[in-house]
Amino acid sequence: MSTSTAEKHTFQAEIQQLLDLVVHSLYTDKEIFLRELISNASDAMEKLRHLEATEKNIHQADLPLEIHITTDEEGKTLTIADHGIGMTHDELVENLGTIAHSGTKAFLKAVKESGGSPSNMIGQFGVGFYSAFMVADKVSVHSRSWRADGGELVWTSDGMSGYEIADSPGQQRGAKIVMHLKEDCAEYATESRVKHLIETYSNFVGFPILLNGKRVNEVEALWLKNKSEVSDEQYKAFYQFACKAWDEPSYRLHFSADAPLAINALLFSPSENPERMGFNKTECGVALYSRKVLIDPAPKELLPDWMRFMKGVVDSADIPLNISRETMQDSALIRKLGGVISKRVIKMFEKEAEADPEKFRGFYRKFDRFFKEGVATDYANREALAKLLRFETSLTEAGSVCGFTDYVSRMKDGQESIYYLVGSTREQIESSPYLEAFKSRGLEVVYFNDAVDEYVVDALGTFDGKKLVSVRHAGVELEDQAAEGDSLSEGETKALCEFLKNELGERVVSVSSGKRLVENPVIALVPADGMSPQMRQMMKAMDENFKDEVKVELEINPRHALIRKLAQAKDSNPELAKLVSLQLLDNALIAAGLLEDARDTVSRMNALMQKAMGD
Ligand code: ADP
Repeated sequence: MSTSTAEKHTFQAEIQQLLDLVVHSLYTDKEIFLRELISNASDAMEKLRHLEATEKNIHQADLPLEIHITTDEEGKTLTIADHGIGMTHDELVENLGTIAHSGTKAFLKAVKESGGSPSNMIGQFGVGFYSAFMVADKVSVHSRSWRADGGELVWTSDGMSGYEIADSPGQQRGAKIVMHLKEDCAEYATESRVKHLIETYSNFVGFPILLNGKRVNEVEALWLKNKSEVSDEQYKAFYQFACKAWDEPSYRLHFSADAPLAINALLFSPSENPERMGFNKTECGVALYSRKVLIDPAPKELLPDWMRFMKGVVDSADIPLNISRETMQDSALIRKLGGVISKRVIKMFEKEAEADPEKFRGFYRKFDRFFKEGVATDYANREALAKLLRFETSLTEAGSVCGFTDYVSRMKDGQESIYYLVGSTREQIESSPYLEAFKSRGLEVVYFNDAVDEYVVDALGTFDGKKLVSVRHAGVELEDQAAEGDSLSEGETKALCEFLKNELGERVVSVSSGKRLVENPVIALVPADGMSPQMRQMMKAMDENFKDEVKVELEINPRHALIRKLAQAKDSNPELAKLVSLQLLDNALIAAGLLEDARDTVSRMNALMQKAMGD
């Protein structure tokens, strides 16, 4: 550069302010400067490509559209060159000396709003071209515009107060940025370090990147391709390399959309679930890109937390490159994007489950907790996710499963609710006295046997407008059934109920004659808002002083021999009738898993047995 022809400029005040921050307040994430510069180079070449369609007189039209990066360890320089549109003299002044562009403006605004402590913010923000001054104390931008009268120029600055523009004879079309690295940033002049950075941030940039003459970004941005152009092998290789996975993908979703947002997404579900194998909570595995440039490898705000097992790439040209993590949190754009993606993912699972139920079953067995978590926490997707839940029921064979949609399709005429029972195993659930009445009426009951299921049904509440109702709950309306055999009369039943309520006192809310029972003499029902045995156990485990008086509604079976005998005994042998009443309640509580203290039960049992053997 000949200093005689150099013209000096001072930076606009805002640029100075920005540079001051960039140079003096940076500690972390300096490395993002490379992503910013490569992205600028790629943009400049993208623009040239567009020009090619309309302009005939492009200067040096034959230059290859490549990004050349060279490191010079001895000279401590890093050079990034492109053959994009370049800049004219006025464009150099306009683009690199004033603050006309949005990204930088947004950055300054955020710094102001944060009360002027940008140290932890700069790394999270793209600060565009000026981020070069994070690592360099002198930057030259050699430039030749695509325009015929562009001029061969070099813009040079130490990032302090101003810059110079001089001639740069021989400069080819495009921009070449030479960075003279600061002492403590010499690492960016080593090939291995730079290679690693390119692979991390710019692996999918759409133009070849050559580092010291060798091509670095071999990986194609598969997500931008047409589905028909990508083979299964390529998908698998992408999943394992780009998503750093070691298993095979179980399902994949590859789609693009233009509205409401421009989206290209390639997502995979794994075939193994590390959380289930005892590893820590999985980290979000879907990276966010904007036009092939990585914005965030694990954007927590993008997708609902339950989807953390998914891996892949979401690329949206609508997301600005320099969006900050803070902005992402309350960005309506990110929310909208996440909303579209999660709906597509759920739809994909629904379709796959329909197409190959066996395969989905195997997958669901490993990943069920994520779907359940989703039902409990992701309000917007709750109903859609509920369709994916799988369970056994009183009508499925042991080991086979179905979903709510199947259940609803089998509901009987006039059946308004979906019935379920929570227990620990199918066997345990099937031995429950609660099932009887439903089975005998041909009503299907869903068996939930996972510790979290109860929360999940609670959160769900309804499916397809049908209420989820526990068969343990009182107040379930069942249609009358023709009862066979002898029964107490209405009057006798009423008298016995009164007697029992009197004997059992506060321990029961009420005693009534039920429609439910076929085989058992009595059943204990919990109020619909009461706690289930599973929940009680959990509460007890968490709090040793937990005490919660169980008050049940007792239903008696007026056709049962024991009940009929009891109706007589209450008049002929009140003492025995009293013992039997108490024992009946305890038995019902045992069957319901609700008996807290069995001391009285045992001594009473002994007394009863003694009586049975004739005192
Ligand atoms: P942004 O990219 O957000 O606009 P930058 O500070 O990174 O902000 O760049 C400022 C401007 O400088 C760009 O908008 C572009 O017009 C110009 N520019 C930067 N790098 C190049 C390049 N390699 N080739 C051509 N123009 C460039």
